[in-house]
Amino acid sequence: MPYQTIMDTLSSSPQVNVKEFLRPILLGLAEEDLDELAQAGVVRAFPAGAVICQEGEPGDVAYVVVQGRVEIIQRLDDQSERFLRSAGSGEFFGEMAILQEGVRSATVRAAEPATVLEIGRRPFLTVLGRSPALGIRILVRMTTRLRDADQQAIAELRKANEELTRMLRQLERLDRTKSDFIQLSAHELRTPVAALLGYTQMMRENPQVQNSPQLRALVEGVVTGTARLHRVFNSILDVSRVMAGNLRIHRTPVSISIVMDGIVLEFRRALEERALTLEQRGIQDLPIYSGDPDLLYKVFYHLVNNGIKYTPDGGRITVTGRTVDVPDLGRCIEVTVEDTGIGIAPQDRDLIFEKFYRTGEPTLYSSGTTTFKGGGPGLGLAIAKGGVQVHGGRIRAESPGYSEEICPGSRFIVQLPFVEEPQ
Ligand code: ADP
Repeated sequence: MPYQTIMDTLSSSPQVNVKEFLRPILLGLAEEDLDELAQAGVVRAFPAGAVICQEGEPGDVAYVVVQGRVEIIQRLDDQSERFLRSAGSGEFFGEMAILQEGVRSATVRAAEPATVLEIGRRPFLTVLGRSPALGIRILVRMTTRLRDADQQAIAELRKANEELTRMLRQLERLDRTKSDFIQLSAHELRTPVAALLGYTQMMRENPQVQNSPQLRALVEGVVTGTARLHRVFNSILDVSRVMAGNLRIHRTPVSISIVMDGIVLEFRRALEERALTLEQRGIQDLPIYSGDPDLLYKVFYHLVNNGIKYTPDGGRITVTGRTVDVPDLGRCIEVTVEDTGIGIAPQDRDLIFEKFYRTGEPTLYSSGTTTFKGGGPGLGLAIAKGGVQVHGGRIRAESPGYSEEICPGSRFIVQLPFVEEPQ
């Protein structure tokens, strides 16, 4: 009876009768096959924690645990690993890499002092080729292992999913608390600022102020600053309504052309100062639209304001209107606000519609609302998107990319579906 005693470099292996050890494991295997495996087998002992075979290395040996336990793990990243399963006496591991002629898909470590039998690729495949019984046994074991791995992966995914959902809920709650706080603060602050704005505007009209260039300049500064504060608080309130889903829409017949005229009037000075051209195409020919004039004003106000802010002096803003058929939306009014400005990087194109999202380094931006790269709280597009969505419409940005040298420009497309008038 062939006995094999291998002295491992670290510890001495127990004497193992390999053939008798394999017999019950490979029940039904022919004597000569058992003999061949026993001849080829090498028994090694490993101390606890020792790596028996390594993920990613070529797999030219199959193993059977003789004594002790091994654990099979997969590395996830430099820090963490995933436990797949453990194997005890009589269990095979490492045969998959031989069958697939590939590298090891996992690392195997001795979970406690362990003795394993190593069988080289060639004798393993020779015996496998002769013995359908062994083939089927390996197949069954592999299928079971795959099914277990599948179930384990599903359980892990489910757990990760639950954890993510829980965190998402928590983040949503935090976001709501933050939005509530912002809304409340904006409300509280807007009231005195509105009063302040009224008083300073009255002061501007005062004859004493009118007659003193110095006083007039001072009061003008206060009026401009207060008006800006007022606008910011209004925007914050608008955006918190959008976020809370409280944006109310009051539809009446609206002329987009009249809305645009109001906006052009509001920005006339800024356009002149910055030598920007604002051109309207097809806006006057648009049919009357049933929408909320205040909300539509805000939508196009913010788009034109951005066109002004992100286009260098001497540039052009083009507002184009037409009616189009849009899949899912049906017949729509489409208004495009296009500029010859700095453009938008592809990774920012969707994010800019999020509240408080601003591209670039905010501290590098100037503070004027119509100056080039003028600062803003990052609310304009969130409000515009909210305003478009309550009309059942869509808004998207297009741009070849961001470059302050080339100025490739940006285009914002708003599609507003026609709604059936109630009879
Ligand atoms: P704000 O202009 O107050 O920062 P917005 O919500 O209006 O906030 O815009 C978000 C960001 O989107 C801006 O900070 C800017 O980086 C980018 N953006 C918006 N419109 C344009 C445009 N026409 N051209 C280039 N970038 C734009």
